[in-house]
Amino acid sequence: MRNETLYLIRELFFPSACPICGRPLVTGREARFGICSDCERLFPLDGRGECCEVCGRPLVSEIGVCTQCRVKEEHSFDKAAVLYPYTQKWKTLLRAYKFRRSRALAHFFAEKILGGRDLFFDRVVFGELTFVPVPPRDGKIKTAGWDQVENITRILEKQSVVCRCLRRLSSMTQKKLNAEERAKNLKGRIVCTKKPPQNVLLFDDVYTTGTTLEVCSSVLKEAGAEKVYGLCLFHA
Ligand SMILES: [Zn+2]
Ligand SMILES: [Zn+2]
Repeated sequence: MRNETLYLIRELFFPSACPICGRPLVTGREARFGICSDCERLFPLDGRGECCEVCGRPLVSEIGVCTQCRVKEEHSFDKAAVLYPYTQKWKTLLRAYKFRRSRALAHFFAEKILGGRDLFFDRVVFGELTFVPVPPRDGKIKTAGWDQVENITRILEKQSVVCRCLRRLSSMTQKKLNAEERAKNLKGRIVCTKKPPQNVLLFDDVYTTGTTLEVCSSVLKEAGAEKVYGLCLFHA
């Protein structure tokens, strides 16, 4: 493929190597994804057990719905799926992506998100879904110098329908707050800037408390979205 040759040429001049094992990236696919083919196999999409029907996180000893979702009466989103636990190997990848600028990994993450959509949101059952990226946290662009989710979004856009209808108004960082404070702080700061798609697939990099998904989805529904599903690369 012509594209992959270009990635390979870039890799020759600006070698990034595999962020996991450090070996050079030698094929077009490896250069495009920013990871070697051996390490790519460490991240299968369907290597998971039973998951919560609501938030999509793996179940430990519960059946059907996780304890956290059980105490919560209602979610603003219809269903969510999370792809991977945020384990060491993923942290290594994400760090390479965010800070060491292995930007090629955006292709790898985008591929996982597309795969996750097809695996968890069957088009026959859920209909055609439009990707809506969760708007970046204020601190994020400042600390990393770029918007990592936006980079993935640009790749998704070439293969799927994307609508950037959410915006986050700036305020203090959310990190030091607990879940309830976060929700309060976040609600009113996320706004829908245009008519949202009817069936939304909201996506984000990490699922921590679920607050971001919750707030974005309620904002989208208030603005007229009918169904909102969530998809995150990792759960903390
Ligand atoms: Zn490797
Ligand atoms: Zn759950």
